[in-house]
Amino acid sequence: MSDLVISAEDVTRTFMISAGAFRGKKPLKAVNGVSLQIERGEVLALVGESGCGKTTLAKMLLGLLSPTSGTIELDGRPVTSVPRLEMARLVQPIFQDPYSSLNPRKSIGSIITLPLRAQGDPNPETWRRRAEEIMELVGLSPLLFHNFPNQLSGGQRQRVAIARALINRPEVVICDEPTSALDVSVQSQILNLLQDLRRELNLTYVVISHNLAVVEHIATRVAVMYLGRIVEVADTETLFDHPKHPYTKALLESVLTPDPSLGVPDTHLGAAYPNPVDPPSGCTFHPRCAQVMEKCARIAPDPIDDATGHVECHLYEG
Ligand code: SF4
Repeated sequence: MSDLVISAEDVTRTFMISAGAFRGKKPLKAVNGVSLQIERGEVLALVGESGCGKTTLAKMLLGLLSPTSGTIELDGRPVTSVPRLEMARLVQPIFQDPYSSLNPRKSIGSIITLPLRAQGDPNPETWRRRAEEIMELVGLSPLLFHNFPNQLSGGQRQRVAIARALINRPEVVICDEPTSALDVSVQSQILNLLQDLRRELNLTYVVISHNLAVVEHIATRVAVMYLGRIVEVADTETLFDHPKHPYTKALLESVLTPDPSLGVPDTHLGAAYPNPVDPPSGCTFHPRCAQVMEKCARIAPDPIDDATGHVECHLYEG
């Protein structure tokens, strides 16, 4: 029996953005009618080019943004009805840059125990004990409790960020490019640590990454986003071995960069990424698609869901 921890139904998030001088504002659908179910214990990767909507979707899963329409449920409850503090306990983020995500003026102990204090735990003795427990779990010496971030390596800082995220035993962790700011030599250590912690603490991860090598290493399932839509979902092996959507195929053939500051992987798609304020008609991927057909510019493909996953492309209609 499935054990859904997150269920998103037809979620849209619209921003009003300036269309230029004297042209007022136009709507931008950063996330456009996304439905997604995430089971407890799985690692779902969200992949796609910059601006595809994955960060907006992640912010909605964290409760930091509300959907314009549609619903997101956590453990069967609408996220909008979960009190803010409880939401912060149940869903925690790990950001890409452990240099900027840790306050340089706070000690490691203070950083790691912040979520306990934010939840109103009044007992400093508890803070210290739980901080030391979680530090050991993430491979940090408790002797670093009084140190400061600038005394730690990049890998140690990311372990601090992970300890802070896990100290309240969340159910879901949103990992935004969790290794991209780290030296290659420590990236696999952090990925292996995240894997071990998932098994040990029965965590569910949503991983945002440009780096398909990271995705293949850690994810159990992959959702590919394009212009606010999820255009393909499949388990990791199926998606890497037998991609269906022409965009997924292009991503997998692309030159991947582990550094998101370099932007989009080079997808060799020819045409540039469309302006999301003025998306193409029909299938929004059609100006870049190697398998485009006449109807693609006129008609948006319907979602096709079967036992292997989800795809939105006319090539797979019956
Ligand atoms: Fe390409 Fe048409 Fe499929 Fe869109 S619907 S991905 S344009 S083949």
